[in-house]
Amino acid sequence: MLKRKMIKNFTWPLKTATREIEVTRLYPEFMMNLPAAERGIHELDATICIGCGTCARVCPNSCIEMVNFKFGSPLKNKKMQFPQIDYGRCMFCGLCVDECPVECLKMGQKVTMAGWTREDIIKSPDFLATKRFSAKEVADLEAEAKRIAAEKAAAKKAAAKEGAAKEGAAKKPAKEGAAAIKNGEAKPKEGGAA
Ligand code: SF4
Ligand code: SF4
Repeated sequence: MLKRKMIKNFTWPLKTATREIEVTRLYPEFMMNLPAAERGIHELDATICIGCGTCARVCPNSCIEMVNFKFGSPLKNKKMQFPQIDYGRCMFCGLCVDECPVECLKMGQKVTMAGWTREDIIKSPDFLATKRFSAKEVADLEAEAKRIAAEKAAAKKAAAKEGAAKEGAAKKPAKEGAAAIKNGEAKPKEGGAA
């Protein structure tokens, strides 16, 4: 009986090796299809992230830190800050994704995150970003942001100048009247008491 089983154990691999049947998954070269609802490593659209830090504030495990990276829009994300996630602490609850006001963070399909050191599983925005602006696009957007800021500053200055001029014009007749009264040049009002 035992002898028969041993022979079977040797012949079965030989038989299956000649047939094209899947005997095991060839991970990591071939990854199985994951369901759409899989909560894997986060994906960040850095082109629309506004750097508000809501994701970091709502994370129950405090695993998100806002760090600087220069691949977003300076028009939307003035401080150029994006989330960095510590997967040593993340429990994949998805709260950060639910609370993001611009829906630029989502749970992805990547699940492999093994590393040799603790730092290897802290993923920077550079790793998480699936969409980002190029250096040239960032430079163009920065120039646009500067132009808009300069326009706003000029408009504010002009409004302040106009306001000051109007105030000055309103004060001038009052001053002139007061000076005339002082010098005895003021005429009594017609029909007024003598
Ligand atoms: S990912 Fe969303 S919640 Fe987090 S900083 Fe960016 S915009 Fe804010
Ligand atoms: S999935 Fe949950 S634990 Fe992980 S970073 Fe987001 S809020 Fe924090």
